[in-house]
Amino acid sequence: MKRTAYLGLGSNLGNRLEYLKLAVSNLPDVSKVSPVYETAPVGGPEQGSYLNCVVQLKTELTGRDLLTECQKQEKLADRIRTERWGPRTLDVDLLWIDGEVIEEEDLTVPHPRMKERGFVLIPLRDLDPTLVDSFSDSEEVISGAFDSVIKFGFLSDETPDGE
Ligand code: ATP
Ligand code: CA
Ligand code: CA
Repeated sequence: MKRTAYLGLGSNLGNRLEYLKLAVSNLPDVSKVSPVYETAPVGGPEQGSYLNCVVQLKTELTGRDLLTECQKQEKLADRIRTERWGPRTLDVDLLWIDGEVIEEEDLTVPHPRMKERGFVLIPLRDLDPTLVDSFSDSEEVISGAFDSVIKFGFLSDETPDGE
């Protein structure tokens, strides 16, 4: 059965938009892509600003499969891991799978920090406002992120209806 899942993508090294584009074009079962936002780094060392977006999948893949897909895209972008929350060409996090909770050593779904991050909630809200409204405090987080999460543009050349 197909379920809805959301992935959060971020890049703050090299050609940030190209890394996001490449990942979105390589990910399986993509059904919607949010606008791209330029965002201030949260945590970690001093580093450049990020481009972030969220993609929706309609997929039969399991949480484990989806984590593997996320890591595959990071590898394709030659991500090098140095310090925690350091700069990266590409980060792909599995944020949410409808109706599923996973608590394993290397995989937690919903993503444990997503609900406190404006750079996740704002693009996720573009795709699924009802989901984001169901999280307590989301309104507060979003209003607090107003100055640090700025609309940057779109991944494809077409602007979606209504924009
Ligand atoms: P954060 O998790 O706070 O966003 P990060 O994305 O910088 O930080 P990474 O270094 O990319 O952290 O990932 C660390 C580990 O997190 C990965 O090796 C992965 O196994 C684990 N992990 C656990 N749950 C998830 C999830 N839902 N999505 C992606 N990775 C996850
Ligand atoms: Ca992350
Ligand atoms: Ca990650």
